[in-house]
Amino acid sequence: MTSAAARAALDLTADLPVPELEDFYRDLHRHPELSFREHRTAARLAARVRAAGFETAEGVGGTGIVGVLRNGAGPTVLLRADMDALPVTERTGLAYASLTDGVMHACGHDLHVTWLAGAAAALAAGRDAWSGTLVVVGQPAEESGGGAAAMVANGLYDRFPRPDVLLGQHVAPGPVGGIAHVPGLIMSATTDVEIVVHGRGGHGSRPETTVDPVVTAAFLVTRLQTVVSRELAPREQAVLTVGRIEAGTAANVIPATARIDLNLRTQSEEVRDRMLAAIRRMAAGECLAAGCPREPEITLGAAYPVTVNDAETDRRVSDVHRGVFGAGAVFDPGPAMGSEDFPHLAEGKLPYSYWFVTSTPPAVWDAAPGDDPLSRSQHVPSNHSPHFAPDPATVPTGVRTLVSGALSQLSVP
Ligand code: ZN
Ligand code: ZN
Repeated sequence: MTSAAARAALDLTADLPVPELEDFYRDLHRHPELSFREHRTAARLAARVRAAGFETAEGVGGTGIVGVLRNGAGPTVLLRADMDALPVTERTGLAYASLTDGVMHACGHDLHVTWLAGAAAALAAGRDAWSGTLVVVGQPAEESGGGAAAMVANGLYDRFPRPDVLLGQHVAPGPVGGIAHVPGLIMSATTDVEIVVHGRGGHGSRPETTVDPVVTAAFLVTRLQTVVSRELAPREQAVLTVGRIEAGTAANVIPATARIDLNLRTQSEEVRDRMLAAIRRMAAGECLAAGCPREPEITLGAAYPVTVNDAETDRRVSDVHRGVFGAGAVFDPGPAMGSEDFPHLAEGKLPYSYWFVTSTPPAVWDAAPGDDPLSRSQHVPSNHSPHFAPDPATVPTGVRTLVSGALSQLSVP
């Protein structure tokens, strides 16, 4: 069964300018920009959205762009793409690899921008097929800094129409062309925590005159491994990763402090709060055991909430995706431990659907060890890897998922 929205989507995307969109994608990939510095990317996206016929504003929440297309009575639908790259040195060997040292589109936000530009153009050109209002958002700083919150704080919904529904999509590892939908919790909450251990510095030859924060921090890193394994129930999915540990300046100097940066992924506030309590208790306990002169300092850093799809909104989007791509393309992978600041655009109350488009090139996927998709997906380059190289064949796929997703929410006669 093909719905009116799916038929309209197939019609509107029948003649996508695929080579031109692929060129745009490769250009973005060559020129990655870090969070809140997406000037070139934002300008190019804004130019395309403006040329498609949207009223377009730049510099929203830093480097964000907003395009509005009013097209008669009907719902207001917001389509979002994040634009920032990562401080990763690219190792893909692609002909269109990053030209900027140490910066790479390792999360595929260049694809997201391409998808949004392509969808905006297709929906504007096919505006006779639908009615309502489209708001397209190029969001800065998803990876760090909270670009979504910055756009809302900068008057996103005062200056531009407030959406009835929001749609977002992300590229992910998996056989090219799959679409992952979850009708509820799809991504986890993330919380950064910084711990500073205060010891007493001194000469490396006279440890008895010091309190060594390096040893204390090492014990603490080890003990922190028991937060998930020993304090949470197996059904309470969570991750605690110590991603950074820093102390000292020379081999023969015992430093005065050591710093640990860790990241939590949780699927409920309650588990997050219990983990934070355990972290505080363990840090205090290790410092007490070592005889530290001061209690450890614990500071909460960036935090993103859980991403929970509105079941009815997501059902309408996944239905239209089945209509456009076939039932076999759509699957439910369950919640992921990754996180997003997309929910900040929803302000905790607007309904949304967020899905993944899988993009591993067939040759890479087929060569990966394992018999089932789950084990293979653990052996192919994932987001944030220096080897992450989505198949450009997903350029038209992501335009179609976004066009059809929008049409599933707009008025289509
Ligand atoms: Zn990322
Ligand atoms: Zn991302």
